[in-house]
Amino acid sequence: MTTALPPGSTIGILGGGQLGRMLALAGARLGLRSHIFAPEEDSPAFDVTRWHTRAGYRDEAALETFARSVSAVTLEFENIPVGTVEFLSRLVPVRPGAKALRCAQDRLNEKALARELGAMTADFAVIDSLADLERALAGPLEAPAVLKTRRFGYDGKGQAKVMRREDAAAAWAAIGGKPGAILEAFVPFEREVSVVAARGIDGGFSAFDVTENEHRNHILHRSVAPARISEATGRMGVDTARRMAEALDYVGVFAIEYFVTGSGAGERLLVNEMAPRVHNSGHWTIEGSDTSQFEQHMRAVAGWPLGSTRRRAPAVEMINLIGDEMGEWTRIAADAGAQLQHYGKAEARAGRKMGHVTRLLG
Ligand code: AMP
Repeated sequence: MTTALPPGSTIGILGGGQLGRMLALAGARLGLRSHIFAPEEDSPAFDVTRWHTRAGYRDEAALETFARSVSAVTLEFENIPVGTVEFLSRLVPVRPGAKALRCAQDRLNEKALARELGAMTADFAVIDSLADLERALAGPLEAPAVLKTRRFGYDGKGQAKVMRREDAAAAWAAIGGKPGAILEAFVPFEREVSVVAARGIDGGFSAFDVTENEHRNHILHRSVAPARISEATGRMGVDTARRMAEALDYVGVFAIEYFVTGSGAGERLLVNEMAPRVHNSGHWTIEGSDTSQFEQHMRAVAGWPLGSTRRRAPAVEMINLIGDEMGEWTRIAADAGAQLQHYGKAEARAGRKMGHVTRLLG
C-alpha cells in the first residue's frame, strides 16, 4: 500500500509548457508544490512555480539534484528521453513510468498494443525505405494513405498524405526519408473523439466524458463534450482506455484519440494515438468538470483518491487561441460567458498555442 503524499510535498514536472503550467496551478490548490525541469529559458510553467531547474533532459547531475528535491516526478511532454525517466526512477517514483512512455513514443507500439487488446486501428505497414513504401502502396495499403514518422511527430509534423501511388517518393522525402516510419490507411472518419482518463496508484480508474475534436491545419481547434456518439460507442472507447492503462501499469491522466467511422449500429472506433499526459482535448474540464484533468493528474501522481468527473453543464466547449488569435483577449475578457486561459507566452508565432477559451453551453 503506497501512502499518499501530503500537502506540502513537491512534485517534479518534466517539461515547462502550458500543460506543466496548468498542472502546477492545479497542484497548488491542493497544497502540492511543483518543481519544473525544462531546458527552455522562456518556459511558461516557470512563471507560476517557486522552483525550476533549467537544464537539458540528459544532464544527469541536474536530474539527480532535481530528483532529490521532489517526492515524485511526472511529465507534461511525451518526448522526454526514456533514459531520463529510467535514470530518475532509480531515485524517486516517476508516474507514469518508462513502460508507458516507451509505448506512447512509437506509433507502431501504440497500434500493436491497441490491437492486442482487441481494439481496432487503421490498417498499417512498417516503412523503413522508399522500396517498402512502394511495395506497401502496390499491395495491401492502396492510396490514399498517410505516411508518418513513428516517433516525435505532433500537430501534423512528420506526416505526409499519399494521394496516389506516384506520390511515394515525394511523401518519403517530405517526412525526411529515414527508416522508422509507418504507412496508415486513410480513415474516412465521421468525427474525431478522445477519451481523457486517469488511473490511480491503487489501479482505480476514472474517465471524463468522451470529447469531440475538430482540427484545423492539423492543430486542435475546438473540443466539445459530450461527443456526438452513441452511449455504446462511448463505453467502448472508455473500456479500451482502461485496458491500455492497465497494460501499461499507468499512473496519471492520459488521452486516447480515436477516429469514429460509420453511424448508427455501424458506428466504430479506431485508435489513432495515445498521449501519456494531460491533453489539449481535456482543457474544458478546468471549468466544466468537478475535477479538472490537471487536478486529477496531480491527485494520481501524489497517490490521492481520484476526484469526481461529473460534467457541470449540458455541454462544454473549448477553443484554442493559436498564434495572433490571442490578440482578441480584450474582447474575450469582456464576454461574461467566456473563461480565458492565457499561457503567458511572450511571442505569438504562427501555429503556437497561446491560450484557450472555455464556455459552458446550455
Ligand atoms: P496524428 O498526429 O496521428 O494525431 O494526426 C493528426 C491529424 O491528422 C489527425 O487528428 C487527423 O485529423 C489526421 N489524420 C492522421 N492520420 C489519419 C488517417 N490515417 N486517416 C485520416 N486522417 C488522419
